[in-house]
Amino acid sequence: MESLSGPLLKIHKYGDPVLQRKAKPVKDFAAVKSLVPAMFDLMYAEPGIGLAAPQVGVSLRLAVVDVPVDGRPNPMVLINPKIEEKKGRIASTEGCLSLPGISVTIARAAVVRVSALNELGFPVSIQADGLLSRCLQHEIDHLDGVLMIDHLSLTEKFKAQLEIRKRKKDGTW
Ligand SMILES: [Zn+2]
Repeated sequence: MESLSGPLLKIHKYGDPVLQRKAKPVKDFAAVKSLVPAMFDLMYAEPGIGLAAPQVGVSLRLAVVDVPVDGRPNPMVLINPKIEEKKGRIASTEGCLSLPGISVTIARAAVVRVSALNELGFPVSIQADGLLSRCLQHEIDHLDGVLMIDHLSLTEKFKAQLEIRKRKKDGTW
C-alpha cells in the first residue's frame, strides 16, 4: 500500500486495476484515521461530491461524500457501508473523478437506506433520495469494483471507451 498521507493522494483513473477490485472491510480504524481527512481534501479540491478509497489506490471499504443540503456542506464518512433497502428507479446523468470528462446516463434506485460506520466506528443509517441517493450508490459500487460505465449497454460502454481513448490521446484525461 502507498502512503496514506495528504499530498501524496492522487486519483486513480479508469484502467487502474485497483478500481476493479472488490475492496476489503475496514477493521483497523486507527489505520484509516489520517486517510479520511486527506480524502475529503482531495475530493473538495477536484472538486467532487464523493470519493471512494479505491479511487486513491486504497482497496478498503471506505468512502467520503458531501452532497450539500440547501447550499450547506453535509460531509459523511461511510465505512463498510451496505445498502439495506432500495426503492424505485430513476435514470440520471453522472460523472466520476476516475473517468474525467465522461458523463453517462444510468438508472439507479431512487431511494436507498444505507447503513455504515463513521470514522469513530459508530453505526450510522442514512435514508437518501435525489443526488445523495445516486452518489451513495455510485460510491458503494466503487467498493465492489464496479464503475458507472459497467452499468451501460455494451454499445454505450464501447462509445465511452472510445471517448476515453480520444481523451488520453489529446491529453484531456
Ligand atoms: Zn466514481
